[in-house]
Amino acid sequence: MDLLTLLFEKKLEKALHFPPALKASWLAEGVLQLLPQESKADTLILSVGIHGNETAPVELLIQLVSQLALGSLPLQHNLLLIFGNVPAMRENKRYIDNDLNRMFGGRHQNFPSGNESQRAMELETVVRQFFREPAVRASTRRWHLDLHTAIRGSCHEQFALLPFQAREYASDFLQWLEGSDIDALVFHNAAGGTFSHFTSEHFNVESCTMEVGKARPFGQNDLSRFNNITLALRDVVAGSFLIKREKPIMKRYRVIDAIIKQEDSFRLHIPEDTKNFTALPDGFEIASQPNQFWKITSPANFILFPNAHVAIGQRAGLLLVQLT
Ligand SMILES: [Zn+2]
Repeated sequence: MDLLTLLFEKKLEKALHFPPALKASWLAEGVLQLLPQESKADTLILSVGIHGNETAPVELLIQLVSQLALGSLPLQHNLLLIFGNVPAMRENKRYIDNDLNRMFGGRHQNFPSGNESQRAMELETVVRQFFREPAVRASTRRWHLDLHTAIRGSCHEQFALLPFQAREYASDFLQWLEGSDIDALVFHNAAGGTFSHFTSEHFNVESCTMEVGKARPFGQNDLSRFNNITLALRDVVAGSFLIKREKPIMKRYRVIDAIIKQEDSFRLHIPEDTKNFTALPDGFEIASQPNQFWKITSPANFILFPNAHVAIGQRAGLLLVQLT
C-alpha cells in the first residue's frame, strides 16, 4: 500500500520505521516529530495540506518521509512534519467547515466548533510541545515552510509570503528562498491567522507560506514541475544550504492593503480568472461594497488572491507594491 493511502487510513504511524539515529514520535494524527539522537542546533517545521485540496506538497512530503525512513536522506535538523488537514485531504476539499489557515494564534475561538477549529487548536498544541523539547528550545536557527498550491493562475508561478514581523527577516532564510528558484517574495504588512504567522510570532521562527504551483487532484501532479522545491527541501533537511539561484532575479513585493468583504453585495470588478500579480491601471476601482470602495493608486497596482466568494469578514484580495 502506498504511503498516502496509509496516511488516509491512519496506518502510516505503524508502517514507517526510522533508522536508530532518529527518534520518531507521532504527536497527533499526521504530525511526526523526528529528533536526531545527536543534538542539533537547527530546527525545521515542514507543513503541507493545511488546505486539503493542495495536493502536490503532500506528495512531496510523503517522498521526503520515505527517504528519511530509508536513511537515504540525512537529517541535520530537529524536524516537525505536519500533514495539516487530513479529513479535507481525504475529500479533496480546501476545508470541511472553515478555512484552517485563518484560525491560528487563537483565532479558532472565533469560529463555531468544527473540524478545522479543532485542528488549529491541536496544531498549536503540538507546536508548543515540540518547542518544549530541550534541543528544539535551545535551537538558534528555526525555520517553518508551510507549503501550498494556488487555486488560480499566477504571473509568478512559485512565490513565498512572509508573515509580518517586527524584527528583521533573517538573511540566511531570504538567501535560501532565493536559492530555491521561486519567482517572487511577498512581505506582509499586518498580523494574520496563518500558520506561518503563528510560528513567526510565538516561537521566533523564520516562516513563510510557500505557493509552489497550481492545485490538481491527488495522483495528477507532475512532480517534475516541482523539482526545484524537491531539491530545496532536501538541501535544507540535510543541512547543506548549497542551493544557488539559476532563474532570473526574484521579484519582491510588499502588501499595502487588504480588501475585506463585509457585505453580501460585495463585488470585485475584475474577471473571475484574473491571475495573481496582475498589474491594474492607476485609478481603477477594483472592489466595492455599500459605503466602501477600493481604488488602485500607483504604484500599488498588483492584485494577489482575488476571490469575491470568501465568507463575510474574510480577505477578498491583497494589494501589493513592487519593491526595487
Ligand atoms: Zn493554500
